[in-house]
Amino acid sequence: MDKPVLVATVAPLIGHLTQSIQLAKLILEKNNQLSISLLVIKVPIDPQGTNKIQTFIDGCNVERLHFHHLPQPENTDSWTSHRGLFVNQLLEFQKLHVREYVSKIKGLCGFLLDVMTTTMIDVADEFQVPSYIFCTSGAAFIGLMLYVQSLQDDHNQDTIELFKTSKELIAPCFLQPIPVSVLPIIITDKLQWSIRMHKWAQQYRRAKGIIVNTFAALEDYALKSFLKGSAYGKSGVPQIYPIGPILNRFESKIKNRSEIMEWLDNQPAKSVVLLSFGSLGSFQLDQVKEIANGLEQSGQRFLWVLRQPPKEKGGFPTEYENVELVLPEGFLDRTASIGKVVGWVPQLAVLSHFAVGGFVSHCGWNSILESIWCGVPIATWPLAAEQELNAFQLVKELGIAVEISLDYNEAMQHQLVKAEQIGKRVRQLMDGENEVRKRVQEISGKSRAAVQEGGSSHLCFENLMQTICRIF
Ligand code: UDP
Ligand code: UDP
Repeated sequence: MDKPVLVATVAPLIGHLTQSIQLAKLILEKNNQLSISLLVIKVPIDPQGTNKIQTFIDGCNVERLHFHHLPQPENTDSWTSHRGLFVNQLLEFQKLHVREYVSKIKGLCGFLLDVMTTTMIDVADEFQVPSYIFCTSGAAFIGLMLYVQSLQDDHNQDTIELFKTSKELIAPCFLQPIPVSVLPIIITDKLQWSIRMHKWAQQYRRAKGIIVNTFAALEDYALKSFLKGSAYGKSGVPQIYPIGPILNRFESKIKNRSEIMEWLDNQPAKSVVLLSFGSLGSFQLDQVKEIANGLEQSGQRFLWVLRQPPKEKGGFPTEYENVELVLPEGFLDRTASIGKVVGWVPQLAVLSHFAVGGFVSHCGWNSILESIWCGVPIATWPLAAEQELNAFQLVKELGIAVEISLDYNEAMQHQLVKAEQIGKRVRQLMDGENEVRKRVQEISGKSRAAVQEGGSSHLCFENLMQTICRIF
């Protein structure tokens, strides 16, 4: 008999790829019959991101995990330049190639679909194999998507209109009403919702299971809400598997890695604030200057990941050739002994370092899990996607973050976050053993306990593997 093969599709984003590879590794370690073919999708308009993905894959050696690179479209000149919609178009384009590849696989037993590639569930259905969705964001995000979709499909509500006229949303995944202003624009914006997210939510329902990179102690309320599937509409909710935190355990081979780590080695314990805004975060020049001034005013040591904004709105950021040109005059000289500005860091290793005591973050889900794991408190500065909602929950519900900004519309509409605000909040973040730091350390312990033998995520993973093994 042919050996069983799971096919994995992953969004072309480093945070999605790294977690999906880590999940694949865990699955393969647990079952030595299985192999996984991971279909790599690359974005032709993002050469730097593509290089990062390639470097990461080159350095990744997992037994029975095979990478297959899907062909790139030859000409995308006529495609949309909007980042999210471009990726959407790319995924639709790739369906044909996924189908072609899968048709040659002997022993195909199922699909593992990253949360942004759920459109491939059509291919899985054609081949009559089950799909598991892997959500690289939290359970509350999944709940929100399913709930809003059920309002539209089961209750005939015009949700876009609803969000225009209401101030708050009550949904089963939230402990308290959520201000509509922090709901992700991908859900409240007509174009984004109708072209992408509404379909995604419908596709989630068709999966055999949804694996979520979260853990019970972090999202207890949202996870329990799924037990009453009818709260999310007529068609119910697939089995949810909270098995996180799944962190990227692979070494990132970045060019100035040892220089960064050596610099940290020479700083006092918990003295450095890391500023990092995910793979897509960047700021316009005037905001960069405010951050620089804010850092100087805070008087704290810092490691700042700074990238150049995309040439076109909605494109991909790149690394600066000469960062000095965008910083206030003399900034690098004045801060030479206390700070470092770089284009990319090995983030988990940095957060794990004794010298790092705080993290100014865009609140991407991976960054949140990494900071929790390392017990490093966050100051929130959401920029896109569901980050605003994440930030709101960190500050207002969990009390494990300090607020710099909660409102990314501010950033998008180009209203500056001022240096005084940045300086004040960074000082507050780094201020000794404050309440926020204590709470982060508590939840950090719980995150580690969750994945230990007998922990909630560990048990859930065992459960997931039993159902996966039943499909072959
Ligand atoms: N990352 C990194 N170095 C950087 C910036 C980001 O290693 O300079 C990693 C980070 O550790 C995380 C991922 O890239 O694992 C970003 O994922 P996240 O969900 O936080 O944000 P996204 O990039 O999806 O917005
Ligand atoms: N890590 C890493 N690169 C490093 C050092 C650590 O990716 O150079 C990761 C490591 O794999 C682990 C995490 O960072 O998952 C925390 O590392 P630490 O040494 O603190 O061990 P742990 O937290 O797992 O006990």
